[in-house]
Amino acid sequence: MTPASPALPPLGVADALSHEAVERWLRETDEALLEPLWALADETRRRSVGDAVHLRGLIEVSNHCVRGCTYCGIRAGNRGVERYRVSEEVILDCARKAVAFGYGTIVMQGGEDYGIEAGWMAAVLRRIRAETSVSAITLSLGERPDEELALWRQAGADRYLLRFETSDEALYRHIHPDLPGRVSDRMAILRRLQELGYEAGTGIMVGIPGQTHASIADDIELFREMDMDMIGVGPYLPHPATPLGQECERRQAEDDWPPDQAPNSELMTCKVLALTRLARPDSNLPATTALSLVNKAGGRAHGLERGGNVVMPNLTPPEERERYEIYPEKAAVHETAEAINDSIMALLASLGRTVGTGAGRRGTRGA
Ligand code: SAM
Repeated sequence: MTPASPALPPLGVADALSHEAVERWLRETDEALLEPLWALADETRRRSVGDAVHLRGLIEVSNHCVRGCTYCGIRAGNRGVERYRVSEEVILDCARKAVAFGYGTIVMQGGEDYGIEAGWMAAVLRRIRAETSVSAITLSLGERPDEELALWRQAGADRYLLRFETSDEALYRHIHPDLPGRVSDRMAILRRLQELGYEAGTGIMVGIPGQTHASIADDIELFREMDMDMIGVGPYLPHPATPLGQECERRQAEDDWPPDQAPNSELMTCKVLALTRLARPDSNLPATTALSLVNKAGGRAHGLERGGNVVMPNLTPPEERERYEIYPEKAAVHETAEAINDSIMALLASLGRTVGTGAGRRGTRGA
């Protein structure tokens, strides 16, 4: 193992890594000097959650969205998107496929779409429970009202994902405008989800224009304090048909970046993932699809070797998947669920990792 440079803080006492120490690791770009960070994150992952990788089958249920998030390709204002909402039968088929592939969990994700009515989703949840042996159901449907979240929990949902995206309040307001008369408070919703008995997940994008290394160190500190079951960390990927994507293009052309701007690179994302593993040893951390896109050959493997213990293979039928373009060139857009499954299984075998069985709740080490 390459020793850390004297400039970098020692990693032996990972739990006590100070804000300043985290910042210094985030700024380090020498791959050789980063080896001890990768090694400790991998060792911490192995000791805390084991070698099993939990597979969560992703179903992109709708690309309708009421929100105007400036980063997201399916934002309400993007007129170029052909909108869809999948049927109950498509969801049931995907859930059966998840069981056949041996995935313990399905994740239903979509835009914040009130065309997905609370009662309709509750009925779908009950059918999945009654007609399939899926072990756990995760939802990621945006900032829905309390009573809907409560109804879905009763109907059989186990988990909910809602990233806070960045802890920098001003930047958050810039990229995630409020709806008229409704202030977006994702922290409050995350607390509410926990009260309702959900396993709650959050996360951030890395390299948002205006996001500094110091602000990402704040995010990691927040992860340490929040006691989340899942934490997703992925690079921000500019979408050309969004205001933030266009801001990014202009900044690139004029080389006009704010001081201390964090890059949206694979390396930066891996550093954040590794430090998140040190901050939350037993949380479930995915090697995200966005990470697998910034380095198509090795991004997903790096994610699993640098702290990750979850992968979310996409089960959405290709026709809908192509229209769920939150960022350009989503990984494996043209591949079938079978082909995606084969490549993930081959990757896990090559890394000497096993496939998690059961629901894969936090702290269950593969069972
Ligand atoms: N509507 C739900 C919500 O907002 O939580 C779930 C769907 S949303 C598309 C899921 C996640 O995609 C967001 O939390 C965000 O982090 C990520 N995302 C959206 N646009 C992105 C982009 N351009 N680059 C990287 N990640 C993006």
